[in-house]
Parts: sequence; C-alpha cells; structure tokens
Amino acid sequence: NAAPLGHNVIPIVNKLQDIFAQLGSSSTIELPQVAVVGSQSSGKSSVLEALVGRDFLPRGSDICTRRPLVLQLLQIKRKPDGTDEEYGEFLHVPGKRFYDFNEIRKEIQAETDREAGGNKGVSDKQIRLKIFSPNVLDITLVDLPGITKVPVGDQPTDIEARIRTMIMSYIKLPSCLILAVTPANSDLANSDALQIAGNADPDGYRTIGVITKLDIMDRGTDARNFLLGKVIPLRLGYVGVVNRSQEDIMFNRTIKDALVAEEKFFRSRPVYSELADRCGVPQLAKKLNQILVQHIKTVLPGLKSRVSSTLVSVAKEHASYGEITESKAGMGALLLNILSKYSEAFSSMIEGKNEEMSTS
Ligand code: GDP
Ligand code: MG
Repeated sequence: NAAPLGHNVIPIVNKLQDIFAQLGSSSTIELPQVAVVGSQSSGKSSVLEALVGRDFLPRGSDICTRRPLVLQLLQIKRKPDGTDEEYGEFLHVPGKRFYDFNEIRKEIQAETDREAGGNKGVSDKQIRLKIFSPNVLDITLVDLPGITKVPVGDQPTDIEARIRTMIMSYIKLPSCLILAVTPANSDLANSDALQIAGNADPDGYRTIGVITKLDIMDRGTDARNFLLGKVIPLRLGYVGVVNRSQEDIMFNRTIKDALVAEEKFFRSRPVYSELADRCGVPQLAKKLNQILVQHIKTVLPGLKSRVSSTLVSVAKEHASYGEITESKAGMGALLLNILSKYSEAFSSMIEGKNEEMSTS
C-alpha cells in the first residue's frame, strides 16, 4: 500500500527515471523539500508521520522535536516475492539498518539527548535519517522544533529567537514547501506558523496552511471560515486534519485506525460537509502531490532539452565514426516522444481532467 504522500506522483517519477536510465544518465528530478513549521505541540510531527504513513517520530504534549530531523525518503525496488522490507538508516550510525520503526524513534530520542542534553535543550545540529521503502517517493521532509516563547529546562533566555532563526534557515530556501501548522484550539488569527511562513514566503507561492486538532476545538466553534481562507487568505489554501491525541499515542493506536477515525469525524460534522476537499490527511497528501506534479511539469522542458542535447552529441559521435547507429538514435526519438506525451498528460492531470495518469 502506497503512503499517502506521492500516491500518484510515484509512477510518473519512476517512469521518467526509467527513461533517463535507458539514456545512460541517472537521477533527473529534484523534488522540493517539505518542511513543517508552527508552535510547539501544534502537531507538526504528527502531520509528517501521517503523510509518510509510518509511526517513527517522537511526538507528545511536551517539547519532543529538539533538533531538525532531515528525513530523506528513498525508493527501493520491490521484491518479486512480495516480501518487501522498509528500513531506516541514520547518518550518525553508519551501516546499521533499522527495520523496527520503534527503534528508529528511540534512536532519534537518544541522538537528540546526546547533542541537546536530556533537559529540554534545543540544538540546530541536524539528525539525518534515510527511510528506504518501495512505497515512497524520493523526497526530503524536514521536521523542525516548534516556536516556543518561555525558556524551560536548559533552554537559553533567547530560545525563541534561536528557534526562529533555525526555522528560517530551512524555509527561506525558494525550493522549500512550507506546511504551516496551526492547532484549531488556539487563536487561529495569531498563528505563529502563518506569521513565520509569511516572512519566508511573502507571496504565498509555497505555503500550505494545515489546521490540526479540529476535534478539540471549543464546543460551538469551528474552523470553517479559516479553512475557507476568510481569516487569513493563503494562495495555496488550507487543509484541516485530525491526528492522534496523546491518549491515542498511549494506547498505541495505529495511523490506519487514526485515518478511519478522522474520516468518521468529518463525516459526522455537517459544518465541514461542503469542505470535503479541505478536510483530512488524504486531502493534504493530494494537495502536496498536485504541487509536486506541477513542479515536475515545470522542470520537464529542461529535461527534454537535456535529452535532445544528449541525442545531438550521440549523433555527432557516430558521425565521426562514419557510421549511423539506428538503435540509439531511434531510442532517443522514442524518449522525446514519450516525454512530449507526458507533458500533455501532465497538463490534463493538473487541470483535473484525469485523476490517475496512465503509465503504460
Ligand atoms: P509538534 O510539537 O508540533 O511536533 O506536535 P506533536 O505532533 O508532537 O503533537 C503534540 C501533541 O498533540 C501530541 O500529544 C499529539 O498526540 C497531539 N495532537 C496532534 N495532532 C492532534 C489532533 O489533530 N487532535 C488531537 N486531539 N491531538 C493531536
Ligand atoms: Mg515535533
């Protein structure tokens, strides 16, 4: 089962990688990084986990994410006998494969303590983790410490400024997509997430608003106007989600169960019924996937011209030998053809004409 993130992008990217592999060049498409920002305990790590579809990040009501976690998802080939394995590898533990995702979580915690101490200290030194799986898209996700105002434990007095600087160093990159996470049980109009995202991306071309904790809003209130962009407009819009509560974590509730519960939540709330396209983790994944497809579409002409120039140089080389090789030139023409076909398919996909793209 594919993770929500990448669902319909994986076949496109795989196809393109295949095409380029045949031409003898390697990886082709740099997808943008995705970073989560927001205040502490807003649900950033929960959102990332739900997108990846695996349990492995430290989460909790206290400060958990105390170092930036750079999470590289890497696709590996599916095994023919169906015994697929997913595993993680840390840069700081070379050569060791973590097959148990609970062990991954423990290692993140232990490595956090090694650098930032055991008493709520925060460090800007990255933890780098690779997750290898047949079900993922090659993409980098960044889990960041949350914005906090009052120093606790070993935190210095200027903790807020330090964390803001750390966050900005990631999200100011023009290639970084920002998930600005705001809990629905806070003052939405004063969202730290939207404020810092707005500093990094003033035109809002790469910020998606995520409203978490819709399940624990004050009775009689809802996030409808916010999801509609009536409070703080956002070009790419908002998605509201319900992730696991602290109690769910204590009872080891799975991501799968949480997704079912989330769907039931939205189904039973008439106020969200017309906003179905802005509600739920699957919609958030869909939004991200659309942005990634759009990105691929943007870089496609560059890829095409690379194929063309490779062809020209191959042709020249052969001309200098005084012979014409049919096979390579023929293959090149075929590849250009496929790429052109893809451009059209991308366009119709983006315009919503067809949901899934044929990869035949
Ligand atoms: P982070 O500090 O922003 O990374 O937040 P976490 O993902 O660690 O979540 C903080 C706490 O909020 C945890 O106890 C989560 O179980 C809880 N939480 C996160 N999202 C939701 C949600 O949508 N609903 C409820 N009820 N609790 C949530
Ligand atoms: Mg966190």
